[in-house]
Amino acid sequence: MLSLHGVVKDFPGAILPAVDNVHINLYPGELLGLLGPSGCGKTTLLRLIAGFEQPQAGRIFLADREIACPNCNLPPERRGVGMVFQDYALFPHLTVAQNIAFGLKQQKGWRRSGLQQRVLEVMTLASLEGLHKRYPHELSGGQQQRVALARALAPNPSLILLDEPLSNLDVQVRLRLRQELRTILKKAGTSAVLVTHDQEEALSVCDRVAVMRQGRVEQIATPQDLYDQPATRFVAEFVTQAN
Ligand code: ATP
Repeated sequence: MLSLHGVVKDFPGAILPAVDNVHINLYPGELLGLLGPSGCGKTTLLRLIAGFEQPQAGRIFLADREIACPNCNLPPERRGVGMVFQDYALFPHLTVAQNIAFGLKQQKGWRRSGLQQRVLEVMTLASLEGLHKRYPHELSGGQQQRVALARALAPNPSLILLDEPLSNLDVQVRLRLRQELRTILKKAGTSAVLVTHDQEEALSVCDRVAVMRQGRVEQIATPQDLYDQPATRFVAEFVTQAN
C-alpha cells in the first residue's frame, strides 16, 4: 500500500525540517490519522503524499510504485489519489451528480452509461440518494462534505487523503459525520490518511494514529495503545487531552 521511507521536507530559511525522517507503512483498507499540534508538519506530509511537494530525502511508494524521491516526482494527477479538503471545493455551477462525474470524466475509458452507474453507486455509498439535481448551495455543510467524499471515491483511487475534512462543520454535524466518514471509507475499502488537530476525532475514527511533533512521528499505534502505552511524555499528554 502506501509506504514512506525516511521522508524529509525542509523549506528554505526554516530552522527545523517541516517533515523529518518519517517512516510510515499503511495497511490495505486502513484509516490512518496524522495528529499533532499546529505546525508539526501534518499538512506538509499530506502534500508530499499527494505530490504537491517533493522530498529532499526519502522515498514514497504507493501500490508498489515509487511516486516520490529527491529526483523523481510523479505528478498528482497520475498518483491515483483522491483528496478531500475542509472547504469541500465543490463546483458551485454543477449539480451534485455533475460534481461527482467531473473527476470520472477526466479519466479515459468511461462510457456514458458506466459513468452514470458509478455516480449512482457512490451517491448511495455516501447516502446522497435523491440529491443528484441539487446545487451545492442547496445542501447542508454535512451533505456538501459527503458529496466531496463521493467525488473523491468515484474514480476508485487506491488512497484518499483527507485534510481536516470536518473542521468547517458545526459540532453536532461533525460528530455525526465522523462515524459516517469511517463507515463510507470502510464500505468502499479504500485506504485513507486523515489529517486532524482534534485528538478525539483521530482517536475515535482511525484504525491507527501517527502522533507528530516538530516534523517527526513520535509514535504510530492504535488509539488504545496510544492511551495504554504512550511512547513519550508528549504523546501521553497530547492524547489524554482528548478526555
Ligand atoms: P496546522 O495544523 O496549523 O495546519 P500542520 O501540522 O499542518 O499545521 P504544516 O502546515 O505542515 O503544519 O507546517 C509545518 C511547518 O512547515 C511549519 O513550521 C510551517 O510554517 C512550515 N511550512 C509549511 N509550508 C511552508 C512553505 N510553503 N514555506 C515555508 N514553510 C512552510
